[in-house]
Amino acid sequence: MKARVLSGIQPTGSPHIGNYLGALKNWVRIQYDYDSIYCIVDLHAVTVYQEPRELRAKIEELTGILLAIGIDPLHSALVVQSSVAAHAELAWMLTCVTPVGWVERMTQYKAKAQAQETIGDGLLQYPVLMAADILLYQAAIVPVGEDQSQHLELARDIAQRFNSLYGETFVMPATHLPTVGARIMGLDDPEKKMSKSAAGSGHAVSLLDPPEVIRKKILRATTDSNPGVDFDHPGAGVRNLLTIFQAFTGWEDDNMRAHFAGMRYGDLKKQVAEAVIEALEPIQKRYREIMAEPGFVAKVLENGAAKVRPIANGTVNKVKKAMGLYTPE
Ligand code: ATP
Ligand code: MG
Repeated sequence: MKARVLSGIQPTGSPHIGNYLGALKNWVRIQYDYDSIYCIVDLHAVTVYQEPRELRAKIEELTGILLAIGIDPLHSALVVQSSVAAHAELAWMLTCVTPVGWVERMTQYKAKAQAQETIGDGLLQYPVLMAADILLYQAAIVPVGEDQSQHLELARDIAQRFNSLYGETFVMPATHLPTVGARIMGLDDPEKKMSKSAAGSGHAVSLLDPPEVIRKKILRATTDSNPGVDFDHPGAGVRNLLTIFQAFTGWEDDNMRAHFAGMRYGDLKKQVAEAVIEALEPIQKRYREIMAEPGFVAKVLENGAAKVRPIANGTVNKVKKAMGLYTPE
C-alpha cells in the first residue's frame, strides 16, 4: 500500500505563483508516488470573513486551476473540506485536548489577528482544524510551504497529547514533515511572504493573470538602489525575482550566476516576466478548456469526496470510541 499524502489550499483570493512554486507544483510532481488527497480548505477560509458568493465561485476556480496544473482526478482525490463532515467533527474533538497556550503562540494567528478588528475564535483554532485534516487520513507526508511548518509541529503535539490521554489512536505524522519548494515574497514588499489575502494590486502574480498584467506587476516590483544584480548579496526584492526565475526555469546555480550577475534591474525584470508568462501560458489554456466543460468540476469534487469519506469517517469512529463518545454498535 502506498503512503498517504495530504495537503490543502484555501479558496481565498486568487492562487499565485508563491502557492504554485511553494506547494502546488510539488503536489503534481509527487501525486503518483502516494495515495494523494488534496483539499480545498473552505472551512479554513472562513476563519476570516469571506463574501459568500465570491467564496463559492473561488472554490470552483481553484478546482479548475488544480486540474489545469496537472492534478489527475483519476488518481488523486480533490476534495472540498466542508463536503466531508468528519473534518469539522474531528476538529472539535482535538480542540478539547489542545491547550489554548499552544494555539496562541502561532505566528500566523498573531499576524492575521493583527489585521482584524474583532478576532474570530476560528482564527485561533485554525491549526487545530489543520491537525484534524492531517490526522483524519493518517497522512504520512504533508507537503506545504515553509510558512506552515509551525502548524505541522503543532499537529504532532496534538496527536501525541491525544494518544497519551486516550491511548494510541493516531499514527504520528513524520517528525520532519518535508517542506518543499521555494518561499516567494510579495513583489511590492519582499519582506512579507506573497499571500492570496494581502491587499495591493502589485503584490502577487496570480496564476490566471494575463501576460500584460504579469509584465506590469513584475516591472514594478520593489528592488533596491543598486545599479545591477549583486549576485552574492542581492537585496530581498532582487533575490525574490531570481528565485522566481530559477523555480520556473529550473536553471542550475552556475547558469543563473553567469547570466544574471551585474545585469541591470530593468533587464532582470523583463526576463523574469517573460519566464513567468511562458510557464503560465499552457496552464491558463488548460484552465479555459476545463471550465468550458459543463459539470466537470462538480463531478470531480463529488468523486473526490466519495472516495475519502469512508477513510475520514473511520477515523472519527475510532476517536469517538477512544473518548467514550456515543457510537452505535
Ligand atoms: P492566505 O493569505 O489566504 O493565507 P496563502 O497565499 O497563504 O493565502 P494558503 O492557501 O494559506 O495560501 O496556502 C496554500 C499553500 O501555499 C500552503 O502549502 C502554503 O505553505 C503555500 N504558500 C503560501 N504562500 C506561499 C509563498 N509566498 N511562497 C511559497 N509557498 C506559499
Ligand atoms: Mg496562508
